[in-house]
Amino acid sequence: MIIQLKENISAQAEQGIVKVLETKKYKPMKVTTQDGAYIIAVGKTEIDIRKIGGLVGVDDIHRVSDAYKLVSKKWKINNTKIDLGDGVTIGAGEFGIMAGPCSIESEAQIESSIKHLVENGIKIMRGGVYKPRSSPYSFRGLGIDGLKIWYKLAKENGIKIITEVMMAEQIEEMLPYVDIFQVGARNSQNFNLLDALGKVDKPVMIKRGISGTMDELLQSAEYVFSNGNERILLCERGIRSYENAYRNTFDINAIAMLKEKTHLPVIADPSHGIGVRQFVEPVALAATMAGADGVIVEVHSIPEKAFSDGQQTLDYQQASSLFDKLSKTRELVRML
Ligand code: PEP
Ligand code: MN
Repeated sequence: MIIQLKENISAQAEQGIVKVLETKKYKPMKVTTQDGAYIIAVGKTEIDIRKIGGLVGVDDIHRVSDAYKLVSKKWKINNTKIDLGDGVTIGAGEFGIMAGPCSIESEAQIESSIKHLVENGIKIMRGGVYKPRSSPYSFRGLGIDGLKIWYKLAKENGIKIITEVMMAEQIEEMLPYVDIFQVGARNSQNFNLLDALGKVDKPVMIKRGISGTMDELLQSAEYVFSNGNERILLCERGIRSYENAYRNTFDINAIAMLKEKTHLPVIADPSHGIGVRQFVEPVALAATMAGADGVIVEVHSIPEKAFSDGQQTLDYQQASSLFDKLSKTRELVRML
């Protein structure tokens, strides 16, 4: 169960709640986030939650028996809005578009990409400076120096940055230059990384694991939330299936179902989701119709020359056309 604590709860009242839970053989765990304080209690015995609801210092109480609790819609009906500052928000009706190259390659590429985004009114740029590559001989990113150059140019142009963090040790160095930390599919269940990201005050977007279930993704998000960070986005990026005509199988079902299971924003990644440039647009539009709160899409001035994932990357013209169609699709969703 989730016990929401009153803002000004006294230590004595808190101890009182813990004591009642312990006598009922429940294991209480205190969670303090940017937005509130909670006690998560796990136990097997039947308990009349009204008795706890009436205790001093309790704001609200909810029975959530799933393995994930704080990220569940069972206690928080209103969808979460992620505020990136400067009027850039995602979730609860605000659609977020994140676009840019798979990898950050050079200063010239960053400048060119930012110009394209600004022209199209896109506020969030994606790009990897630490790249998880299947082969150790592939390009593995420009690292922190690339991120610093990117940050300077992005800041000058009012653009927010989403980029992947691969290890807990990288967080501190990256923190000042990042607006959203991306957890990649290969790190979706790196619980040490998730624990560490729960302790920072920056939004985190967690991608679904390569063969991950929705419940596993939600439990990964629970790691971040229960460590104190409520600012989480989930990302469907396709899963591995027996179909080999494309890179991954984009799970459109998961978009619709996750929106029922969680209050967190759900982002679609059609680029990795299908892995074939020609079909990125229809998959992006379908995900939007299914209820996605945003899309993250790979874009490059010359996709054929991209250092990574060129085969699934849109050129500027294709991207501009997609942005236009996304806004029309959003209008349609609002009208339905
Ligand atoms: C990426 O965003 O470029 C990436 C590596 O994605 P994923 O972790 O989904 O494979
Ligand atoms: Mn990529």
